[in-house]
Amino acid sequence: MRIAFLGLGIMGRPMAQNLVKAGHQVKVWNRTAGKTVEGAAVAATPKEAARDAEIVWLCVSDTKAVEQVLFGHDGAADSIQPGTIVVDSSTILPSASLKCAERIRSKGGDFVDAPVTGSKVGAEAGQLIFIVGARQATFDKLQPLFATMGKSAVRVGENGKGLAAKLSMNLMIALTFEGFAEALVLAKKQGVDLQPLMSLINQSMVRSGVVDYKAPFVMGRDFTANFPMRLMHKDIHLMLDAARQNGVKLPGLETVDRVYEASVHQGNENLDYAATLLTLEKSAGL
Ligand code: NAP
Repeated sequence: MRIAFLGLGIMGRPMAQNLVKAGHQVKVWNRTAGKTVEGAAVAATPKEAARDAEIVWLCVSDTKAVEQVLFGHDGAADSIQPGTIVVDSSTILPSASLKCAERIRSKGGDFVDAPVTGSKVGAEAGQLIFIVGARQATFDKLQPLFATMGKSAVRVGENGKGLAAKLSMNLMIALTFEGFAEALVLAKKQGVDLQPLMSLINQSMVRSGVVDYKAPFVMGRDFTANFPMRLMHKDIHLMLDAARQNGVKLPGLETVDRVYEASVHQGNENLDYAATLLTLEKSAGL
């Protein structure tokens, strides 16, 4: 298929690379020039990338970035033809995504929210999970592309529902990691050796996918970004915004947000979100 891929960050670049490897005709664009994908053509603007594309896929930081890439100067929306499908894998507010969908549909295109889970490792290995809000027929049409970049795609419902589910899942990730980090700090402060503690965690019901993924990095004191803290912090604010819009209280998340605020203030925003552990250690005098 002819695919425009917009945004070549930690996630977008390997996703686009996997589309090229599968034999698709891919044209990429990234805001900062110089990021490329082997075997893909490079466009100067989103509008140029999207020209003649059957699918326009984007994966950029936040709501503002999505709006700029689609509807800003030389935005991809200028090239939308009847039948073009725009797929957004960025994590943004569901209500903002719905507005994007309306604007793309008014041009005769279709729109899909398809945020992902699986992080950098999943993107590189083509093992992402897509959490999708789309019309059923459009979802079906995209199956080969989901299968190229991921290990599964679940259609949650119509537009916006993919993002609504994604935010709920990231809420669990943020709280689960925070529980793990606080447990490590409390244990360490009491003089517990972390190796046997990890063995206990892995044998018991507190084991989790989040701990499985993060523990090797944390134990190796490697806080380079897989999922940068600035993006998880952004997601926490999206969750709190969605909660406010829907009359939901999230007291646990509000508390965790304060840990992120402190950690960002300490200069950790470009480290992995696991570096919130450093902030907890610091306040415990470790
Ligand atoms: P990233 O490495 O920070 O890349 C962000 C991308 O967005 C870059 O290509 C950046 O361009 C572009 N961008 C930012 N602001 C822009 C703007 N105003 N206009 C145009 N482009 C802009 O982020 P990532 O880790 O790939 O994440 C991308 C999305 O996936 C985010 O919504 C994130 O929450 C979500 N996500 C990430 C992970 C993960 O583990 N990393 C997992 C699941 C979901 P430049 O190169 O010019 O800065």
